[in-house]
Amino acid sequence: MHSIQVHAAPDVFEVKVPFENVSTSATNCFVVVDGGEALVVDTGAPTDEGAAVLEAALDELGVDRRRATFFLTHLHLDHAGLVNAVVPAGARVCASEVDFAAVRATRAAAYFEETRRLFEREGLSFTDASGFARYAIEPQLFDPERIDLAFVGEGDELRVGRYVLRVVETPGHTPGHLSLFEPSSGILFGGDHVLFVISPSIALFPDGADGLQAYLDSLDKVRALGCKRLLVSHGEPRDDFAERVDWLAEHHVARLREAAAIVAAEPGLTGEQVIRRIRWNVPHDRWEDISFVQRWCIVTEGIVILDHLADRALVRRELDDQGVWRYAT
Ligand SMILES: [Zn+2]
Repeated sequence: MHSIQVHAAPDVFEVKVPFENVSTSATNCFVVVDGGEALVVDTGAPTDEGAAVLEAALDELGVDRRRATFFLTHLHLDHAGLVNAVVPAGARVCASEVDFAAVRATRAAAYFEETRRLFEREGLSFTDASGFARYAIEPQLFDPERIDLAFVGEGDELRVGRYVLRVVETPGHTPGHLSLFEPSSGILFGGDHVLFVISPSIALFPDGADGLQAYLDSLDKVRALGCKRLLVSHGEPRDDFAERVDWLAEHHVARLREAAAIVAAEPGLTGEQVIRRIRWNVPHDRWEDISFVQRWCIVTEGIVILDHLADRALVRRELDDQGVWRYAT
């Protein structure tokens, strides 16, 4: 079998679609089946092996892909990457319009220059700023014309047989991240919003909006949902959902405090200098020893933190004569 049943009433099956990356080895995709209908939550990363695993699981579960509904928690490669491979032409795919627009915006003509300048304003070298800005451009994950793409948001309902699942907007990890809640069982398909294996990364939101505040608000929102069972996209499920939500919130608050203390102790630092002084959970002797992708993750999350502090007037920043932010309290 290529799936395991992780819940009964509603019947939910988990498919581990393989994908090796920095912190995970698979994406957990879920199939909800009832009364001959099926809902597929996420698809996994675009590899031949992954496609074969998901196809085999859907076959075993008797899912008619033309009639099934596909739901994407967010538009990252390891969640939406197999849409082209497994979703038949004309089949329904539900996704966030905010994420769709954000991904598309990274391919606009001016995006690279603007993003490079954003990184340079934080004090990064031309080489790093250019590399990071290039990495921030997201590929088109699927052809929207080929499928029946439906944009969904807060409160929208998806039906599977007798069950009604409700869309809950949980922005933070991406600007339009979505979760799906089934009230009768208390199951929450949380995507990458709350994970146990890592603290989910926070996206740089378009137009400099405060992604960290959005993430913290989304944690409050799921805390109030009455979730009895969280189904996570990476790693194994655990029962201590409420404790994990609290831990994640405290983790970010502690990081904010740490960054503000660094700025207070050494006024005049650039953003990159502040970010390098934060204690990240990545062991290294020299900054240069950290892999490019890990450094990109650290720098973008660091900028998210600095933007939040500046937004709340907990730090202030002024451009120096090189056009680089200098931070002070
Ligand atoms: Zn993700």
